Amino acid sequence: MISTFDLRQLERCVELAKTALEKGDDPFGSVLVAADGKVLFEDHNHVAGGDHTQHPEFSIARWAAKNMSPDERSIATVYTSGEHCPMCAAAHGWVGLGRIVYASSSEQLIQWMSDLGLPPSRVRNLPIQEVIRDAVVDGPVPELAEQVRTLHQQLHERRK
Ligand SMILES: [Zn+2]
Repeated sequence: MISTFDLRQLERCVELAKTALEKGDDPFGSVLVAADGKVLFEDHNHVAGGDHTQHPEFSIARWAAKNMSPDERSIATVYTSGEHCPMCAAAHGWVGLGRIVYASSSEQLIQWMSDLGLPPSRVRNLPIQEVIRDAVVDGPVPELAEQVRTLHQQLHERRK
């Protein structure tokens, strides 16, 4: 179930994804929210420098491990413009974070890449539930997924 509050956080994630694209990074953005609704940390993708592990969900996992207790982490929510990749899902699982809400799914990303004539990424796009046994996941959100799709199209246009 995706609430109005959830939608607001996802809209912020899409904004961060736009910022990433403007800075030359891939269009992904994520927000970490505490159980009481307080936004604790947000980040966007930073792969333009050549380090392709610089995903926002991964930096959220590391931030959470450093700054939150295990209990706080387990009831926190991670919002993200695109479903976690396996690396980030694993990091999320290892640090014991809670629910994940995404605007667009990995399955959608695979379809978009294929529509754009791009080869699939080397790392498989697995659903989060394939990586985290007890994952609590909500998404995608069609209107926001459409916005994310546009950002990926713009990325591709620029690289052509
Ligand atoms: Zn990732």
